Amino acid sequence: MTTILHSDASNITNRLRSVTSIIPGQPASDGEGVRLTRVIGTSALQMLDPFLLLDMIYSDEPHQYLAGFPNHPHRGFETVSYVLAGRMRHEDNKGHKGVIEPGGVQWMTAGRGIVHSEMPQTDGLLWGFQLWINLPAAQKMTNPHYQEFAASEIPVEQRSDGTQVRVIAGQTNLGTTGPIQQGATEPIYLDVALAPNGNLIETIPTTHNGFIFVYEGSVTVLAEHPGEEQIVAGTLAVLGEGEGVRVRTDNTAGKFLLIAGKPLNEPVAHGGPFVMNTRAEVLQAYQDYQAGRF
Ligand code: FE
Repeated sequence: MTTILHSDASNITNRLRSVTSIIPGQPASDGEGVRLTRVIGTSALQMLDPFLLLDMIYSDEPHQYLAGFPNHPHRGFETVSYVLAGRMRHEDNKGHKGVIEPGGVQWMTAGRGIVHSEMPQTDGLLWGFQLWINLPAAQKMTNPHYQEFAASEIPVEQRSDGTQVRVIAGQTNLGTTGPIQQGATEPIYLDVALAPNGNLIETIPTTHNGFIFVYEGSVTVLAEHPGEEQIVAGTLAVLGEGEGVRVRTDNTAGKFLLIAGKPLNEPVAHGGPFVMNTRAEVLQAYQDYQAGRF
């Protein structure tokens, strides 16, 4: 699904969000020794409510990723896997399985509990992201469910200035709506490619926390105060308060994720693969998992 649109339909002139901090990703290892870059969930940025974790895998050396993420549990939040290159096979203890292909997204609401594996299926470049989004107390023990979309099911705006926006969640200023539904956090998840001398202006509701994560090239975030900030690949920019964001490129291209969500403003008790509101609930999750109640 590709729609050609003219970006001069954008007309945000209200307060633009400035960059409040710039967070470089940090080398990390998870699962069975999978090498990755952790961007949220580090000492530099423990969380950005409702976002608990953001990892990027980028490697063309299979020994760095092939052991994957064998069976492991989750409870109390959502995991969002988005693949750019390579394939990720997944299977859970509820009988659900499949393969995420390039350009595809799997939005898994773990809810009360799921045990799954995530295994790379490629011998070349593996490139993708996993984002953890918290659930409110009222939804932490919901039944697990999935929203899965292949690349062909995700709308793409091809704008007249060469900008391309893949809309996974939320709605763009030009009216394209992504397929994901999540009323609790009302997420926006856009994958944006700016050509050289490109420009993007998008509304982000004032209720939301937001960030951009640049994964190729570099871009500049423009705001009145403190001005402009250049963000290079591998770096996350936390956006301050405001009604929208403006991003441009100079004479090189840039690709980034623009992600925002409504904060939950609830206590967070984070124990490994379980994210609850209290320590007691995390201990209960460990007990339930060990007793085979997932
Ligand atoms: Fe997982």
